[in-house]
Amino acid sequence: MRNSFAYSLPVKIVFGVGVAEQLKDIATSCGFKRGVLIADKLFAENGMADKIMKDCPSLVALYSDITPNPMLSEVTAAAELLRQTEADYAVALGGGSSMDLAKFACSLVFADSTATDYFYKRKVFGAKHLPLVVLPTTAGTGSEVTSVSVCNDDQTGIKSPLPCDNFYPYLAVVDPLLTLSVPPFVTATTGIDAMSHALEAFWSVNHQPVCDMYAEKSLELIFSHLEKAYLCGEDIEARSAMSLGALYAGLAFALPKTAAVHACSYPLSIRYHLNHGEACAFTLDMFLRENASVDGRLHTLAQKLGFRGVGAMADKIKDFKEKFGFKTTLKALGCEDVAALAAECQSHPLFQNNPKKFTAKSLAEVFCYYG
Ligand code: ZN
Repeated sequence: MRNSFAYSLPVKIVFGVGVAEQLKDIATSCGFKRGVLIADKLFAENGMADKIMKDCPSLVALYSDITPNPMLSEVTAAAELLRQTEADYAVALGGGSSMDLAKFACSLVFADSTATDYFYKRKVFGAKHLPLVVLPTTAGTGSEVTSVSVCNDDQTGIKSPLPCDNFYPYLAVVDPLLTLSVPPFVTATTGIDAMSHALEAFWSVNHQPVCDMYAEKSLELIFSHLEKAYLCGEDIEARSAMSLGALYAGLAFALPKTAAVHACSYPLSIRYHLNHGEACAFTLDMFLRENASVDGRLHTLAQKLGFRGVGAMADKIKDFKEKFGFKTTLKALGCEDVAALAAECQSHPLFQNNPKKFTAKSLAEVFCYYG
């Protein structure tokens, strides 16, 4: 165990069934006067954004032009709306996309350069940014408590996570009721994404005791409730456990960051058009088995979670993937060049956080071994 570590996480959290209805009081108590609601398109279409704006009159405008992988042009447009409305706060409603876009826009609003300059780290944000309140509508990304925004450059197609201390939301309002209408496949992909965050936080070379604790608790909740939430979306107990599990997973990986699973997820998503959670799932059980050979804590973790050992825990993840209809083999992906895939995965910066080290060649062998 590490005998020295630092822990700090500057996000206020309000959790509970129905807490989203207190948004007006929350905004008033924070002294916010004019805000912009940044919401996924779906919520603009189904009336939920309108309802939230009606219930919270200090929200004066809506931005909802958001693609599933938010674009820098959308970040720029949202920042422009924040500027035009002279907003003193923003609210993000949705999954990772709207939260990630809002984090970036709340800093860009005060910036003197383009989103592209900050995305490619040619410029660094000053400390000034608008306070952001986030209402996650899926149990998965953990973006409500992290300082990272994952966006895409419209011009080059490059997708990359941008970390910045400004990006920590001011307040996360986590209400499991908001996740009730999430369809089963999205429940599955976001749930496995959260499971990946917790496991990777735990085995990251940067892991530390406080985050390990969140990771363990998160895994306990997710392993015992994911299938229930998938099969019965109306089950508020399962949804609450998943919301809490995803929140704990966010708290677990916010500092140690993720590792090989997430490193591989980016090339897998881009090359084979997998969504983020399915791309993480593709290598999650594989790296669990591999990392257990260098990190003995994983055996203890598996037993604490009620498995006979790491093998049984990895089998359970594989079961989930099959049940959820995820692609589980290279053949199913249509992968013809394993060496190129492995080289791209292994060169991703997050790969450095993995406890077991691989060369591009040994990673390709492992990919082939598992199928
Ligand atoms: Zn993720």
